[in-house]
Amino acid sequence: MALDVHLFPCRSDNYGFLARDVETGVVAAIDTPDADRILEELERLGWGRLDLILNTHWHPDHTEGNERLKAKTGCEIVGPEEVRRAAPLDRVVGDGDTVAIGATRLKVVATPGHTLGHVVFHAEEAGLAFVGDTLFALGCGRLFEGTPAQMWDSIRALAAWPEATVIWCAHEYTASNARFALSLDARPEMKAHAEAIFAARERGQPTVPTTIGTERRFNPFLRAADADDFAARRQAKDDFRG
Ligand code: ZN
Ligand code: FE
Repeated sequence: MALDVHLFPCRSDNYGFLARDVETGVVAAIDTPDADRILEELERLGWGRLDLILNTHWHPDHTEGNERLKAKTGCEIVGPEEVRRAAPLDRVVGDGDTVAIGATRLKVVATPGHTLGHVVFHAEEAGLAFVGDTLFALGCGRLFEGTPAQMWDSIRALAAWPEATVIWCAHEYTASNARFALSLDARPEMKAHAEAIFAARERGQPTVPTTIGTERRFNPFLRAADADDFAARRQAKDDFRG
């Protein structure tokens, strides 16, 4: 039930993820922002196989590589029905289902908001989750399809996980998110957290993964008082030019 997770930058600000089940050697790609980059990283890691793709939602920067990766490796593509709007999908999963990467089991949790069919994959025993564009370090996804109330419920369900849960977010938006967080939160610990993020980005280091504990302390969306406050914060972030 241990997963080796490898993260690599793709496109302008996406992250690609390859996850290998330590016990069985089974390998999964979580989302497919760039097929060539994913094949390159597989080669570099020497993992030698791609067994499955797990898609979080239909957006092209998460599904564009499905077709080419399947053609190259014969992998199975698993995700929510909405993926078919943009790319091939072999097996539909939804809320409450379980998927396996070898011996590691991941629970599928529906998180409507960014898109209506968005799902996240939670490996409870391994203590980690792939959350696509639902939750970001200090941020959350834009509401392209869902309502603020839906997204508020979605991110609060994630916030109820154990604090140590490692959260793999699909974009590097953290510096911009931190500037927005600072506009709402004057605590010295918020300032220190933001400074650490700016410094990491200046060194060219990723700020992903984060943890549920960190996000509960600092994420301005999780710190909203209620659904209305969340809606106001989401709108303010859309309009924020920091
Ligand atoms: Zn998206
Ligand atoms: Fe995205």
